[in-house]
Amino acid sequence: PVDKEKLASVAKIKVVIRKRPLNKKEIAKKKEDIISIEGASNFDLTEYVERHEFVFDAVLDEDVSNDEVYRETVEPVVPAIFQRTKATCFAYGQTGIGKTFTMKPLPLKASQDILRLMNHAYKNQGFQLFVSFFEIYGGKLFDLLNDRKKLLMREDGKQKVCIVGLQEYRVNDVEMIRELIEKGNATRNTGTTGANEESSRSHAILQLAIKRLVDGNESKPPRPIGKLSFIDLACSERGADTTNNDKQTRIEGAEINKSLLALKECIRALDNDQTHIPFRGSKLTEVLRDSLLVTLALS
Ligand code: ADP
Ligand code: MG
Repeated sequence: PVDKEKLASVAKIKVVIRKRPLNKKEIAKKKEDIISIEGASNFDLTEYVERHEFVFDAVLDEDVSNDEVYRETVEPVVPAIFQRTKATCFAYGQTGIGKTFTMKPLPLKASQDILRLMNHAYKNQGFQLFVSFFEIYGGKLFDLLNDRKKLLMREDGKQKVCIVGLQEYRVNDVEMIRELIEKGNATRNTGTTGANEESSRSHAILQLAIKRLVDGNESKPPRPIGKLSFIDLACSERGADTTNNDKQTRIEGAEINKSLLALKECIRALDNDQTHIPFRGSKLTEVLRDSLLVTLALS
């Protein structure tokens, strides 16, 4: 049974901003720090004479660790995925702001907590944890845990999405999940061109799925219960990069912008409680159609 009150306390969209310290290059160029954090939810961007204030669900200063980021964002949702919740966490923003730095540790920490719940509070209740990891590159899906095999997406009559052929690995311990995540990240970073920035041209989606045995029967396929999706989004600015005449790069940029715009439109519709959510706007939003109900965004 879904604990509606508990769910409401984590729903629907939580936007968290994280400040990163100035990097070496910025320090060398004597760049000024123009951001100050006032309280737990206020963010002040002081640009020369103008001041802009923004308010978020939480604001994390530059001394905040990845552990604390996890506690502030994903941790409160973890128990809810045993209650049929599907949640998504993603980082958004320009290259170099710290998306990958922030996103990378989260799935491992979440799976540690999931496994702990499975082995204690939900012990012997037939719950199982599965991991899958794929990327969307140029509007196509590739399995990061199966040699970049091309995947097809299908929708059943009940508007449920199914990614045909996606490898799902059942995991029982943290080491196994660590290896799978590393494997996926390595596959992602050695894409078609092997270029260093390959990873910022694709959306990488890591999903932790909770399933449950039907009547405790090991020989029947377990029933899907809840899911946590982590997305390291592609960078938006490539589309605007008019100096680049490489056709492939321009096509990629257009595709990335299309999907980020589609994501924005879905989130706006969800935030306004609209009945029609335009999931069909892109592959990214179609894949996430069942998982954009509780969304945590990090910036
Ligand atoms: P993005 O994925 O948004 O392009 P990265 O996550 O690759 O950015 O971060 C760019 C660089 O900044 C990396 O070298 C990363 O280690 C560093 N960095 C990002 N965020 C932080 C942070 N909060 N603290 C320390 N270093 C950070
Ligand atoms: Mg990145």
